Amino acid sequence: MYVNQLSLQHYRNYDTLSLNSFGAVNLIIGRNAQGKTNLLEALFVLALTKSHRTGKDKELLSFGSDHAVVEAEVEKKYGAVRLELRLTSQGKKAKLNGLEQRKLSDFIGALNVVMFAPEDLEIVKGTPGVRRRFLDMEIGQVQPGYLYHLQQYQKILVQRNNLLKQAWGAGPELSTMLEIWNEQLAEHGVKIIKKRKQFIRKLQKWAEQIHEGITGGGEKLKLSYLPSFGEAEEEDEAVLLQQFMIKLSQVKDQEIRRGMTLCGPHRDDVSFYINGNEAQVYGSQGQQRTTALSLKLAEIELIHEEIGEYPILLLDDVLSELDPYRQTQLIETFQSKVQTFITATGIESINASRLRDASIFHVQDGQVQGGA
Ligand code: ATP
Ligand code: MG
Repeated sequence: MYVNQLSLQHYRNYDTLSLNSFGAVNLIIGRNAQGKTNLLEALFVLALTKSHRTGKDKELLSFGSDHAVVEAEVEKKYGAVRLELRLTSQGKKAKLNGLEQRKLSDFIGALNVVMFAPEDLEIVKGTPGVRRRFLDMEIGQVQPGYLYHLQQYQKILVQRNNLLKQAWGAGPELSTMLEIWNEQLAEHGVKIIKKRKQFIRKLQKWAEQIHEGITGGGEKLKLSYLPSFGEAEEEDEAVLLQQFMIKLSQVKDQEIRRGMTLCGPHRDDVSFYINGNEAQVYGSQGQQRTTALSLKLAEIELIHEEIGEYPILLLDDVLSELDPYRQTQLIETFQSKVQTFITATGIESINASRLRDASIFHVQDGQVQGGA
């Protein structure tokens, strides 16, 4: 897919903006705090209806404004689609080709993006929660049904935890109530675990190949799902369900003592290995960054596999961290297949010769000049 046109109204530091001269590779150049990330963020928000930087939509509205609008025309395999997302402090509304969508989940996926920003290093370095959010965001983008199970699971988890917190000294009725919650928790839990394992298995295939390319063949990247019960490779729902229920009965006393749910997808994690060593523990800063980048780039291929179309790629502040060889490898990996938006503080930090044909946009204080 390909973004033909983008307009913003009262979005962060943009009052009104309309751009329509995008190329296959777009360089967004500007000094600090001018609006480069805001521009990429707007595309991200249009794809997922929420920001990669904040959970609070209110922060996206220009200071003093009660609403913001992000609109784009996206050229897809079967024709152009017009997307419009209107954000207010009360909520958001989405339109596809002028038609308001009853559910945001019907809108998510009309535009697909893969974003790589400096904070994505945390996928490798950070806490398990960061990695779970990575999985949830990425799977949710291509399989909206996943988000339904995730929401249900989280609701049930809160209620089950509340029950466990009040459970001190409770009698046999507690066991009956717990069993009811267990069934519901496991029902949605195994769907989440299964999708995550499938995602990791498919991502592994591409990430390994891409990582080898970027590092010139020197590093072998492996991914592994770390479940809170059962084996990493098990994907059969019936087996997972049985294992989940057994584990819940095993940890029951401990859960009552601690007042929380101790197994399930909310306690799972993912590990990354470079040449057999865990990247989070042994990887250098550069290896960790390359690992995070390979994961994101692998996702591009995965989305293509899943929906038959390439997403757009948003690279925030990452090019200047790579040497010219890696910049070139990165750009050439997706040459002419993937429309790319790249931010940088100066054109001089971009060395790859391939980038000389890029469309260049200069951003200053919420105003944009240039284009193809
Ligand atoms: P850097 O190179 O430092 O990453 P940038 O060009 O990516 O800079 P952005 O993150 O896009 O900068 O933000 C630019 C400006 O947007 C900042 O000055 C910030 O104060 C402003 N800004 C952020 N949120 C809002 C908002 N809701 N309303 C108005 N301005 C905002
Ligand atoms: Mg920025």
